[in-house]
Amino acid sequence: MSATRVLVLNSGSSSVKYQLLDMRDSRRLAMGLVERIGEETSRLKHTLLTTGDSREWNGPIADHEAALKAVSEELAKDGLGLDSPELAAIGHRVVHGGQTFTEPTVIDEAVLTEIERLIPVAPLHNPANLTGIRTAQALRPDLPQVAVFDTAFHTTMPESAARYAIDLKTADEHRIRRYGFHGTSHAYVSRATAELLGKAPEEVNVIVLHLGNGASASAVRGGRCVDTSMGLTPLEGLVMGTRSGDLDPAVIFHLMRVGGMSTDEIDTLLNKKSGLIGLCGDNDMREIRRRVDEGDEEAQLAFDIYIHRLKKYIGAYYAVLGRVDAVAFTAGVGENASPVREAAIAGLEELGLAVDGELNAVRSGEPRLISPAHARVAVAVVPTDEELEIAAQTYALVAVGKNS
Ligand code: AMP
Repeated sequence: MSATRVLVLNSGSSSVKYQLLDMRDSRRLAMGLVERIGEETSRLKHTLLTTGDSREWNGPIADHEAALKAVSEELAKDGLGLDSPELAAIGHRVVHGGQTFTEPTVIDEAVLTEIERLIPVAPLHNPANLTGIRTAQALRPDLPQVAVFDTAFHTTMPESAARYAIDLKTADEHRIRRYGFHGTSHAYVSRATAELLGKAPEEVNVIVLHLGNGASASAVRGGRCVDTSMGLTPLEGLVMGTRSGDLDPAVIFHLMRVGGMSTDEIDTLLNKKSGLIGLCGDNDMREIRRRVDEGDEEAQLAFDIYIHRLKKYIGAYYAVLGRVDAVAFTAGVGENASPVREAAIAGLEELGLAVDGELNAVRSGEPRLISPAHARVAVAVVPTDEELEIAAQTYALVAVGKNS
């Protein structure tokens, strides 16, 4: 089969990220980003990974259609255009698949209608994902397009973990339940952690800590997710770069009744102005650590709250799983911030968890263990690769031609 390339598209409300991979050897050929779509100061950054050469283009890009056309032109300059017969499929990251989509799915009109039906539970993400899909379809109507859902990995959660304890009828009427997000990453990292331990995914129980600007934890038993920290939306759970994570829902009534704030103002407060940035004015862990090292008390408090919440989830998921084989750190903070890993695991020796200072200090892009040799539970750093996972799932689907 000559068509072995997959283009992975991650369409946000004002950005498109892309990667082109060759699935014969999972090699990345090109990647890039279009930012600030719809503004005068849009930017396209394209890198040809086979040579490492980058090109940047600045100027207005009106909409997603123009953005994808610009991406296609950049790829074409490198002989990798969307019209290439070697392109097998386009894989789209779709944030919300609800309860409907438990697996990657070849996109047709019925699939688009269902993604659209889910907009009320993902008002920020699904419309942008849909625009990206429709634009890509217009450019290559003959090409299979596959949706890979952020929620899919979590659809194995039992009802006891997926339900909120609210009136059942109201919950069902409004499709209120815990869906979870970052599923592609949790799936990839839990599998890669089993591999690192030299075991099959079915044999191991893993707590995955995806700590990026958004952050979530999951409890994975034998390769299947049994609980995760994000819920109806990505707001629940851990302290994040700009999101509060867990809080008493009554805080919202209080802000409305006593603070006089509107629904939209509270939404913005909790999603964009809370978490690390709300606590100390910075959401980048590098900057927070620099300030902590200088004795900055606000940064220290933000760090402490972040770690406290993380520890609570490690403990909770330990209890949910009963037996834990590994705790895996991933994403921007999890892969890079050794003080976060050290602090999150500190004091958990009774649970068989410990971090070796020297191993933890090693900087590497490879999956690695950071627990001491004698530790009962492995602690690992496992770099996530959502694009590779989306490409692999997309290619697996179109290469065998099922589920169309
Ligand atoms: P992500 O969402 O996975 O791309 O993660 C982005 C976040 O990772 C940034 O906001 C930083 O807080 C964090 N980060 C990235 N690099 C480092 C680093 N070298 N040390 C500490 N934190 C980092």
